Amino acid sequence: MLDLATLSFSSTVSRAAYFAVFLILALRQREKSYLWHWLGAILASLLGAIMLAKEPTNLTLPVLESMQIFTFYMASLVLSWSGLRRFYGLGFHAYAIVSVVILTVTPALACLLVPWLGASKTIVASVYFLCATAASVMIVVEIMVARREYLWSQIVVAIAFGIYAMGFALSAAMLLFTDLQISTETARATIIFDQINSVLVYVGYVAMSGERANLQLRHQAETDALTGLFNRRGIQHALLKLDFERSGSTTCVILGDLDHFKRINDTLGHEGGDDVLKTFAKRLKNLMRSDDMAVRWGGEEFLVVLPHTSIDEATAFAERLRTRIETEPFMIFTKAVNVTISIGIAEIAQPRDTFEKAVERADRALYSAKREGRNRICR
Ligand code: GH3
Ligand code: MG
Ligand code: MG
Repeated sequence: MLDLATLSFSSTVSRAAYFAVFLILALRQREKSYLWHWLGAILASLLGAIMLAKEPTNLTLPVLESMQIFTFYMASLVLSWSGLRRFYGLGFHAYAIVSVVILTVTPALACLLVPWLGASKTIVASVYFLCATAASVMIVVEIMVARREYLWSQIVVAIAFGIYAMGFALSAAMLLFTDLQISTETARATIIFDQINSVLVYVGYVAMSGERANLQLRHQAETDALTGLFNRRGIQHALLKLDFERSGSTTCVILGDLDHFKRINDTLGHEGGDDVLKTFAKRLKNLMRSDDMAVRWGGEEFLVVLPHTSIDEATAFAERLRTRIETEPFMIFTKAVNVTISIGIAEIAQPRDTFEKAVERADRALYSAKREGRNRICR
């Protein structure tokens, strides 16, 4: 069995290693304030671990040292919590700040007051464990309830803090309601428990920022920057989730191309043309259902995939779009600009048809719409 000195040493060294990793991460991405909060959390727990490593079982530590240790550990939990709020882009309400300040200073005050009141030092430790339980619960609640985005890695952090909360609550209960005393054995168990859990927390934090960065990069790679619609790569990925053969209902594609767009560019300039494209994309999105997918297929060419839609329903959708574009002039630089669109429609006919073949047919239908005089729909 490992002795206490070895365990304390390895706990301190691993915190120092995490500190170095987070320092590099924070310096490389200075704008990400949550990394600085988490760096602070690691620093605080590192300082606590260094102080505790000197005398891990000594309950007669001077009051000042006990206060410092408890404050470092509470500060670490509170900075973890504030880092998470920054990660989710949330602010700090006054009541939240007041409660974390109270949680941070209460164990330190207990160090001063409890011996003065003549109560035992186990009471002081219980107060710390209760405050630590409350802070850990706040962190779990922050992740599970106020969750703004779906990241697998945040579940790891939530589980780790859930285990912390149970461990702290159990420690407080045992100190208060049994005759358990802090001994070499309890100190050893605590350090091992903390060592495992802190790995989950810190690795979880790194994974959370990595997972989010990956999702953001993928989103950027699959989105058209001007209109916010899918680009061609994005639709290929989205289509993987749509199993045409198994869905049992038809899917339609509609391909629209703005008429005489070169003239719009010539009269309004390229920026004005861009504004027309952005406004068009907004109107298109307003008409779509939640599982429809819109793609900027080319310069002024747009593709819409309509799952679970018959060709007649797709034609009705295309007609609503065409009318809306024709009848509501676009306001560009305070000028009303008339825009029209030509549309080709095709159905993905099961079972052997493919998306690519349907788009080819929609493209031929679009060509017919252009040839027949534009501002119309062909299928
Ligand atoms: P048609 O009715 O036959 O479709 O005529 P058109 O002028 O719309 O078609 P054409 O394909 O000849 O011209 C499309 C123009 O769209 C040419 C290109 O400069 C412009 N364009 C392509 N991408 C963009 C863009 O991102 N922004 C702007 N402002 N213009 C673009
Ligand atoms: Mg055009
Ligand atoms: Mg075109």
